[in-house]
Amino acid sequence: MTAWLPDYIWREGAFESGVAMFADSSGLITHFSSAAADLAQAARLPGCALLPGLINAHSHAFQRVIRGRTEQPSGASRDTFWTWREAMYRAANLLSPEALYHAARMAFLEMLLSGITTVGEFHYLHHDPAGRPYEDRNLLALQMLRAAEDTGLRIALLRAAYVRGGQPRFLTPRLEDFVADTEALSGRCKPGRSWVGIAPHSIRAVPLDYLLELGRYARAKALPVHMHVAEQPAEVEACIAEYGMPPVALLHQHGILDDRFTAIHAIHVTEQEIHQLGAARSMVCACPTTERNLGDGTCPADRLTRAGVRIAVGSDSNIQIDLLEDARELEYHLRLERLERVVLEPEALAPRLLGCATESGAASLAAPGGKLEVGRPADFFTVDLNDPSIAGADAESLAGNIVFSLQRTAVRDVYIAGQCIVRDGHHKLEEQILKNFADVQRGLSSSHRLC
Ligand SMILES: [Zn+2]
Repeated sequence: MTAWLPDYIWREGAFESGVAMFADSSGLITHFSSAAADLAQAARLPGCALLPGLINAHSHAFQRVIRGRTEQPSGASRDTFWTWREAMYRAANLLSPEALYHAARMAFLEMLLSGITTVGEFHYLHHDPAGRPYEDRNLLALQMLRAAEDTGLRIALLRAAYVRGGQPRFLTPRLEDFVADTEALSGRCKPGRSWVGIAPHSIRAVPLDYLLELGRYARAKALPVHMHVAEQPAEVEACIAEYGMPPVALLHQHGILDDRFTAIHAIHVTEQEIHQLGAARSMVCACPTTERNLGDGTCPADRLTRAGVRIAVGSDSNIQIDLLEDARELEYHLRLERLERVVLEPEALAPRLLGCATESGAASLAAPGGKLEVGRPADFFTVDLNDPSIAGADAESLAGNIVFSLQRTAVRDVYIAGQCIVRDGHHKLEEQILKNFADVQRGLSSSHRLC
């Protein structure tokens, strides 16, 4: 039995003091207590607040290698998501299995250092750059699982089906192969620490008949389903040209939307589509730091919330890994559009945004964490109440300070299943991971023109 006693602990949407959290040897939370005898045996965490680990519901870890390399004109008449995508494709084609492992470890390290305890890795690199399967067809997905295991992060490996367009490396034209590869990968996951989900990449990448079969497979196995939806207007227009309706309406009409479905982005959606998502109890994963970087548009978080759609958040391109920044931008982008403040939730804005980065993410990924309650794993992070970014906060204003102002320098310790993964702001493999990643970056920029 292990127990922790911070100055404040986040439970049921508020901070409490004088409460210790207990976990058993398997890392599950057994009880909370304020009894003096219990407090006396808990490890004291003075000057710290303890929060549930953040859940990053959407990441492409390999895109960490193009951070900062696409922030200049590409030479096109207009720089957009689509010109950025060319640079991303070049990077995707340059990575060896080992380089992919090092890039993923770098991204996962940064996630851990920022309080993230689970990632939903939307994985679409499957084959060699010519499109030939590796001897082990899941080699690249296994690199991601290995990177997560070595760094200590929980991972939902969302295996992406990509059938048309894209790059040869992404493609699995035969559904039987996709299902067989997914089954094989599932057998190599570690229960509770890694698991698979299904990720039809997008309407543009997956034809409808393939998508419907995937939907049946996911339903039979009760797997989470993630799909890029309505990120860019051109993608919506192409869907209307092909099917006579926009993406969410198409998914609704064919019964793809349900409570295991998460629409990634869902920016360019109609009011009717928002209601279709809400009626199906589907979720949305917004990735505002990436969406602002790529010029995608603003997540209609207010309209989604009104329709009962829960919103998770993701670091997506990993241009910046700070899930609280993503959470606060859900609100900030609406403020910029509306010229108003406190738009999303008048009663309890900070708890609502924190819930996006924790509970909603866990629901989207079918992950075990997301909340500090009995029976769930002791996945949590602590923040230093004396960090300059939140210093001076009291119990009342602490949630607002953390959600709107916390800098990553304030994150002290990160625990997963009751085990300390980050101690005092550092990970035990940090130096090695940084060195390996710098070597990968040097290799990419010296032997090829990456971007
Ligand atoms: Zn994405």
